[in-house]
Amino acid sequence: MRDNSTIKVLLVEDNPADARLVKEMLADADGGQFYIIHVTSLGAAFERLAEEQFATLLLDLSLPDSFGIDAITQLQREAPKLPIVVLSGLNDETLSINAVKAGAQDYIVKGWGNSHTLTRALRYAIERKYTEEQLIYLAQHDHLTELPNRALFQQRLTRAIEHARHNHRPVALMLLDIDHFKVINDTLGHEAGDQLLMAIGQRFRHCVRSRDTVARLGGDEFTIILEEISSHRDVANVAKNILKILEKPFLLTGQKIEISTSIGIALYPEDGAAENVLLRNVDIALYQAKAKGRNNVQFYEMPVHDSRSPYECMVSDLPKAIDHAQIKLYYQPLLDIVNDRTVGIEALLRWQHPQLGLLSAKEIVPVIKQTKLSATLDEWVLRNACSQLKAWQLMGISPLKLTVNISIERFQHENFFESLSAILNETGLNADCLQLEFSGSSFLEIVNKNPTTTNRLRDIGVHLSIDGFGQDQIPVGQLRRLPLDLIKLDRSFIQENTSDQAGCQFIAAVIALGHSLNLKVAATGVETLDCLNALQVYGCDEVQGYHFSPALPPGDCFEWLQKSLTAP
Ligand code: GH3
Ligand code: MG
Repeated sequence: MRDNSTIKVLLVEDNPADARLVKEMLADADGGQFYIIHVTSLGAAFERLAEEQFATLLLDLSLPDSFGIDAITQLQREAPKLPIVVLSGLNDETLSINAVKAGAQDYIVKGWGNSHTLTRALRYAIERKYTEEQLIYLAQHDHLTELPNRALFQQRLTRAIEHARHNHRPVALMLLDIDHFKVINDTLGHEAGDQLLMAIGQRFRHCVRSRDTVARLGGDEFTIILEEISSHRDVANVAKNILKILEKPFLLTGQKIEISTSIGIALYPEDGAAENVLLRNVDIALYQAKAKGRNNVQFYEMPVHDSRSPYECMVSDLPKAIDHAQIKLYYQPLLDIVNDRTVGIEALLRWQHPQLGLLSAKEIVPVIKQTKLSATLDEWVLRNACSQLKAWQLMGISPLKLTVNISIERFQHENFFESLSAILNETGLNADCLQLEFSGSSFLEIVNKNPTTTNRLRDIGVHLSIDGFGQDQIPVGQLRRLPLDLIKLDRSFIQENTSDQAGCQFIAAVIALGHSLNLKVAATGVETLDCLNALQVYGCDEVQGYHFSPALPPGDCFEWLQKSLTAP
C-alpha cells in the first residue's frame, strides 16, 4: 500500500456535498490512484472495516452517530493501525491538537486547499502511521531475536490476566534461563552466542500455539505465556517438549553445540492473583529448577510453613545463596548537580531469596556479618561490579565512577591490595573509575591500623569515600587527616534537615566543612525537588536518590545511563 498502487480510502462523511467534493478532489489526483468507499456513519465505517482493509480513513467529526474526538478514540480501539485524517468544518486550533493527540495523523479544514493538498495529506498520513508503527515495533521487540521484549511481555501478561479473570481459564507463566550460557560466549565468542540465542528463540516458538507469547527478557532469559490452559499436564507437556527440542544440537561455526535450559512455572491464579506475586513466584520456581541441577522443569510450590524467623532463614540460607545465583547487584546512579550530569553508579547488593523475596543491602548486611561472609561477598561484588562497568564502557557508556562498599573485614585481609589490583587487571577497568566506600567508623580504624594500604590505593588512582556522614560517629577533628576524596551525607541526616531553615543551615555548614578540607560532598536519599534545590543552594556536589532513580537491575541501569548520557 505504500508503493504506487491504488490507495483505498474509507470516507466517513454524512454531508453529500462535502463527500462529492472530496471524491472529485481525489479523482483529480495525478495518476488517479485513489479508490474511495463512502459511508455516512461511524457504525457503517466499522462494518466496512470488519470486512476489508483500507490504507487510510478520512473522517468527518460530526456524524449522525458520533460527534467530535470520540470517533477517533473508537476507531483507534477497533483499528489501531489505520491512519486517520480528520476532515472538519471547524477551523479550531484546540480541536485539531486534540484530534492529533487522540491518534489522528492530520486535521484538514473543509474548503481549504485543493486536490494536491488533500492527496498529499493522505499520503503523508500513511507514511507517518507506517513510521509510527515501525517505531512501536522496535520499542516492543528484542533487536536480536525479534521476539517481544520485556515491555511487550508485561503488556501481554497484564492482558492475559485480565482475560483469565473474565473467562476463568488459568494462565501459565514460564521462565526459562539457558544453562551455562556464559560458556558458549567464552568458548565460541559473543557473536556465536547471539546466533545461538536467535536459534533458541525460534525453537521455543515452535513449541507453542501462535497465540501464546514467547518473549526474551534479556540475556539468556526467555518467558512464555500460555493462555487458556486446560490442565497442569498440558503445561508440563509444553515444558517437556521445550527440553526435548533443545536436545537436538545446534550447528554453530561448523560445530555441534549442545545446550539445555531450566524452566520455572507459575500459574495464574493459583500461584499469584497479583501480577507481581506471579512474577516473583515464577522466579522462585526457576531458581529451584537451577538448584535441582538444571535441565529440568519446576512448578512453583508454596513453601511449607517454616517455623524459622526470617532472620534465621537468612542466616542459614546465605552461604549457598551465591552458588544459587540469588545474590545480585543493582546499581544506583550518582549525579553531579553542579554540572548537571551523571558521574557515577553505586553497586548495591540484593538477595532474591526464594521465600522472602528481594532483600535490600540494609537487610542483608547484618546477616553477612553474622555469617562471617563479608570478605567473600565483598570480593564477589568487586569483581562483578568492575566487570559490569567495563562491559558498559565497551558498549559505549562514557567513563563513570563506580562506588563499591567495602567492609573492614575484607580490607584488613593481608592480600586486599593485591587482590584488588588483580581484579582491575582481569576486568580491564581503570583504577580511577573505582571508588571504595567505607562506613566512617570503620575507615578510621582502617587508617589507624593500616595507613599504607589506603595510600597505595590512592597512589594507583582509586578514590576513597565514607558514607553515613552525619549519622555514623566520626570525630570531625579526625577528618582532616583521613586520605579521603568524598564524604557522603546519610539519607536520614538529609531527610531530617532539609525540611526547615535551621536544618538547612546545618547541612550548609557540613558541606562547607567538607569543601574546606578539599573533599567533595555527596548526599544520599534525595527524594524530592525541594530537597534537591536546598542541596544545590548550599553547594552539595553530588546526589543520589529516588528523585532521580532507585537502584536498578543491570539491564534497566544500562538503559538509564544510555538515556541520561545522551540527553541534550
Ligand atoms: P546458569 O546456568 O546459572 O544460567 O549460567 P549462565 O552461564 O547461563 O549464566 P547466567 O544465566 O547468569 O548469565 C547469562 C549470560 O549470558 C551472561 C552473559 O555472559 C550472556 N549474555 C547476556 N546477554 C547476552 C547477549 O545479548 N548475547 C550473548 N552472546 N550473550 C549474552
Ligand atoms: Mg543462564
